[in-house]
Amino acid sequence: MEDSDAKRKPNFIRTIIEEDLRTHKYGGRVVTRFPPEPNGYLHIGHAKSICLNFGLAQEYGGRCHLRFDDTNPTKEEEEYVEAIKEDVRWLGYDWGEHLYYASDYFDQLYEWAVQLIRAGKAYVDDLTADEIREFRGTLTEPGRESPYRNRSVEENLDLFERMRAGEFPDGSRTLRAKIDMASPNLNLRDPVMYRILHARHHRTGDKWCIYPMYDFAHGQSDSIEGITHSICTLEFEDHRPLYDWYIEQLGIYHPQQIEFARLNLTYTVMSKRRLLELVREGHVRGWDDPRMPTLCGLRRRGYTPEAIREFCERIGVAKADSLVDYGLLEHCLREDLNKRCPRVMAVLRPLRVVIENYPEGQVEQLDAVNNPEDPSAGTRKVPFSRVLYIERDDFMEVPPKKFYRLAPGREVRLRYAYFIRCTDVIKDAEGNVVELRCTYDPQTRGGDAPDGRKVKATIHWVSAAHAVEAEVRLYDHLFVKPDPDEVEEGKTWKDNLNPRSLEVLTGCKLEPGLATVAPGYRCQFERLGYFCADPDTAAGRPVFNRTVTLRDTWAKIQKSLGE
Ligand code: ATP
Ligand code: MG
Repeated sequence: MEDSDAKRKPNFIRTIIEEDLRTHKYGGRVVTRFPPEPNGYLHIGHAKSICLNFGLAQEYGGRCHLRFDDTNPTKEEEEYVEAIKEDVRWLGYDWGEHLYYASDYFDQLYEWAVQLIRAGKAYVDDLTADEIREFRGTLTEPGRESPYRNRSVEENLDLFERMRAGEFPDGSRTLRAKIDMASPNLNLRDPVMYRILHARHHRTGDKWCIYPMYDFAHGQSDSIEGITHSICTLEFEDHRPLYDWYIEQLGIYHPQQIEFARLNLTYTVMSKRRLLELVREGHVRGWDDPRMPTLCGLRRRGYTPEAIREFCERIGVAKADSLVDYGLLEHCLREDLNKRCPRVMAVLRPLRVVIENYPEGQVEQLDAVNNPEDPSAGTRKVPFSRVLYIERDDFMEVPPKKFYRLAPGREVRLRYAYFIRCTDVIKDAEGNVVELRCTYDPQTRGGDAPDGRKVKATIHWVSAAHAVEAEVRLYDHLFVKPDPDEVEEGKTWKDNLNPRSLEVLTGCKLEPGLATVAPGYRCQFERLGYFCADPDTAAGRPVFNRTVTLRDTWAKIQKSLGE
């Protein structure tokens, strides 16, 4: 993965790591981790974290762990674990032997909880969740101490042991850290360490009926694994003093937590809870719907891991929250697809064209360039015959100014073929144009006229007799507003869903070489965009997703800014 090596920009995390390497703070080691909770599919925001953690490890000769933060048994599923592994691998990263689960540490975490009880630093509380919330205070008011806060060590040990043994119902007791109910940091107001939950865990089964809170598990998991740089998003900044407190009280190895701003992207939502809602309520076809910002959705859409990695490198890391323009992601994608994708001709909304002076039954194989960006991609043969399809949009009966394509009496170039002139327009009973009659100039084979006469447009086409029928799915943004949370009174983010985010076209005509494409096959349909064969593709009947159009609005903006 050398794609971004040459232009790696310094950032504050690289600066910290380089300084630590220089001072030998961790004995020259760089150990990072990507710690997803297996309660949903990964999205492009996670890609930022994956690229950062795995990328830095690679860059500094260290390693990166994949750790499932599976402390919440009720929301987590094996399906997500497998999907997450697949997505990380697809992005191009390898955790080697370093696959871990927070649940692997449940025994150790339990022992540490007991150690804190013994040290008088933790207590069993009988307040309900609501009462705990009420006692907690606010940012401006200190909290109140629980009446159970000063239980003896013996009583706490006994109660915690019985919590573990399953003597008490869900929610009846918790284990809390004894820190400071007046702390200005709410996370330090005697946070809950363990709760009772008689629920089956995807890995530990029925062994436990008490589960550690994420905050009691996360820092210690990093410590156990010898993580050097524990990189997380900004919302954990206020949790850092708590992680530090646990680690100091337990006297264990202390990783360094570094926070960065999470990725927000225009025209989409990124929270797993919301993505799950879109799936459950049928607003999309599934987690891998090509409109979703999930990695499996982007993959199905035709995104390449290279483009996503490049995007993550370009957005960089910062301490301030920001909203990234979706156009930048698409720009990175186009740059990559432009280099790798073969060009083909496809007609999405076909209009029949009969070339009256072309001999009936004759077929010519014309040479077409596979990729003008890559001469090594060579050429291919494309059949030409008397009946063709062109794009409906490429003809206008009454052309306005600046429309240079086909119109009655006008001549255009057919890509890689001949000049044709429209001589007649055939309509159905309702007056819709159903066919064009044209003539071709045999002298213009290959695309130029020997007499030097020019045409103002070149259009694509497919030979009717040879065409492969296909379904093509066109996509637009999932939301109509750059910020889906911008809503009027009484409306929700879901009211901003784009009702036209999917358009399905059937009866599209592709050049014959595409008859047998496999799902995942990517190409450019000339003039129409980049496309990727969908898993719904069946033998002889391709289904294509438009990955992205050819118009690069982001590059245009950059140009106008003089960048
Ligand atoms: P969500 O808010 O989407 O539900 P999460 O943060 O709860 O996501 P986790 O599974 O806990 O999801 O995330 C795993 C890692 O990915 C965490 O380290 C988290 O900080 C990081 N991450 C999640 N969302 C983003 C984002 N938008 N940008 C950058 N990193 C992210
Ligand atoms: Mg989370």
